[in-house]
Amino acid sequence: MKALKIVLLLFFLNSNLTLFSQENGGGEFKFNESKTECLTVNQREEIIIKLKESQKQLKFQNKYSNVNSRIPNPLFIWPVKQASNVTYNEIWAISNYVDHNTAYPDQLKDYNGGTKSYDTASGYNHQGIDIYIWPYYWKMVDNNGLEVIAASGGQIIYKSDGQFDRSCSFNSNQWNAVYIKHNDGSVAWYGHLKKGSLTTKNIGDTVTQGEYLGIVASSGNSNGPHLHFEVYEDDNYSYDKLIDPYSGPSNNWNISSWWQRQKPYRNPKINALTTNSDPPSFGNCPSTEINNEKNIFSTNELVYFIVFLKDQLGYNFNLKVYRPDNSIAYNWNRNLTQDYSSSYWWYNGTVDIEGQWLVECSLSTGEIVNHYFIVDNSLSTNDYLIEKTRIYPNPSKENLFINSKVRVNKAIIRDVLGKEIFEYDIKFIGTKKISTSFFSKGLYFLTVFDENSNSATYKILKK
Ligand SMILES: [Zn+2]
Repeated sequence: MKALKIVLLLFFLNSNLTLFSQENGGGEFKFNESKTECLTVNQREEIIIKLKESQKQLKFQNKYSNVNSRIPNPLFIWPVKQASNVTYNEIWAISNYVDHNTAYPDQLKDYNGGTKSYDTASGYNHQGIDIYIWPYYWKMVDNNGLEVIAASGGQIIYKSDGQFDRSCSFNSNQWNAVYIKHNDGSVAWYGHLKKGSLTTKNIGDTVTQGEYLGIVASSGNSNGPHLHFEVYEDDNYSYDKLIDPYSGPSNNWNISSWWQRQKPYRNPKINALTTNSDPPSFGNCPSTEINNEKNIFSTNELVYFIVFLKDQLGYNFNLKVYRPDNSIAYNWNRNLTQDYSSSYWWYNGTVDIEGQWLVECSLSTGEIVNHYFIVDNSLSTNDYLIEKTRIYPNPSKENLFINSKVRVNKAIIRDVLGKEIFEYDIKFIGTKKISTSFFSKGLYFLTVFDENSNSATYKILKK
């Protein structure tokens, strides 16, 4: 103990900088804890009746696309894609696979022989793959963050929209969904979509692989925003042969994988790395989370560094915080010994010098994710234009939004040497999107001018 004190004392004597790190925390984020079934038996029967009617009608109208059961099954791409304005690394995780054990309740077997699935006492064995949003699913729903795309091209044989999309528990609501029939006759169901987000294409139209179908949300019988992806083999209107697209030791239905590139059963990832003024507040379903994210701090301010993970078991991460001169301000390690599908871990510490800082997270899979933030005391000056104008997101990737309650006349971007990079001839009040996709990564200054040539300058970081 004495030795430790001396070391600490030496540290403070050697340095005129004073850092103060006090706490860490976090834990598991549980999705669908109460194991709500994605579709009740009645709901599935009703859907199948509607699909059959719709298919018959398309045939009657001569709009039904040809099916050739002798051609091979489709090879799927991943059915979700994060929207281009989302700056996180990855925003999904898997809560449940198809249950191959027909007994119930609590008799589970996923394709890999594990129990990442569920069934219910009423005899429902989970028939799809549940891909949920992580982190901040309600924020993502609000911002159309996770898009559902066609895993394979085909014909829209049915779609249904208009249903409430913020379900939090068991209910008898209908979901919003799109149903696509592929050339071999197999059919994929994409359920729980956001109200009003569905593709504008009509029943009978075709979609190509990767084409937008809707936004992940929580319509129907659902505990929170996720995509339920369910696949049937034939088109003989029976919907009695379920397909699990994953090949594995416990999938006896279809031996080969229906994925172009089957993802691993466990898929450890750093979904996001952020800086915050406080830990996030996930709130009560369905209210939108308060993430407390922040990218500009003052000296001596306490910064929270937050890592969002999926499938963490058996790995460890290292979190390093670098000052603008590349010296290390903090260095933390964590062993991840719990089996969590999604988790978040935070550390906090004060920052001591102005400039651009870097926080870097390395997961023992080899994955490294970086996040830049700025320490600058001058940015708290109050100028009316600054007060009434907001620039976000910062850091940004491709687009930046200027939101101003004052009429803006133009905006100029300069590099760190003061050289003008681009002038935006924009006249607006409210919100305007500007593209930053043509600059290289780094720090810039954005100056916004009002009609009287008053200006406000912001440091912006292009990722
Ligand atoms: Zn499901």
